[in-house]
Amino acid sequence: MDVKPRLAVSSCLLGQKVRNNGEAAEFTEITHKWNGHFDLIGVCPEVGVGMGVPRPKTRLLNDGNSIRLVDSINGEDFTGRILEYAQVQADALVASGICGFVFKNDSPSCGLERVNVYRDGHTRATRDGKGMFAKIFTTLYPHIPVVDEERLKDVRQAEHFLARVHFFSLWREVGLSGWTAQTLTDFHNANKQFLLHRSPGAKRRLGRLITSGFDNSEHAETVALTYMTEAQKTLNALTQKGSIANVMEHAPGKITHNLPSVK
Ligand code: SF4
Repeated sequence: MDVKPRLAVSSCLLGQKVRNNGEAAEFTEITHKWNGHFDLIGVCPEVGVGMGVPRPKTRLLNDGNSIRLVDSINGEDFTGRILEYAQVQADALVASGICGFVFKNDSPSCGLERVNVYRDGHTRATRDGKGMFAKIFTTLYPHIPVVDEERLKDVRQAEHFLARVHFFSLWREVGLSGWTAQTLTDFHNANKQFLLHRSPGAKRRLGRLITSGFDNSEHAETVALTYMTEAQKTLNALTQKGSIANVMEHAPGKITHNLPSVK
């Protein structure tokens, strides 16, 4: 029996009532369609560190030296607790075999991009922050595909994310038996069509990365990890419409049976 790939998702997007106002922010595309293709794992960092539901809003605060995660009403500082939780939780999620992470947008804990950051004494914010949990996760594990839920509302971006997850899940499956120069080269060659269509130059660049890694006598596991980190960075950019359609048409439905419909 096929095992469904595991996907981490901010808990509130799965319909869990964990937001500061006691509500959820269910993303029905994920809970009604993707749930048939993925093993969905909910993660709520704020509840994870013991903040109650309901609770006051948190915010990112730039105190001039660093960015802190604080209670927006009384200023209680949650930074240390979130950092510790994020490291432990990120390790556990990756060890459990997740193939991607969908983050709630705009959240000071989960947001991946353009999150409000306040300066001490200022009521206005700049939208250039990253949620504290999301930042730790992506720093520790840059080879795992991640996406902000807002992007999934665009069908092309959703397809693009699923393709990255699919590519990662194939890589992970091969790597379970241990990487060698041969298995990594074979993996790269088996996916060259995918890479060619997704990102101009990606196939050549990643091929060179394999060659130089082994020329420098790096361990195969290290080369494979560098390979996927670079691949996800490269693939993070959305490609041309034609390329995506082509890949989605030919992309093997190996991510279990078929890629889930996104609209
Ligand atoms: S955005 Fe993140 S921290 Fe906030 S409720 Fe959702 S899962 Fe919890």
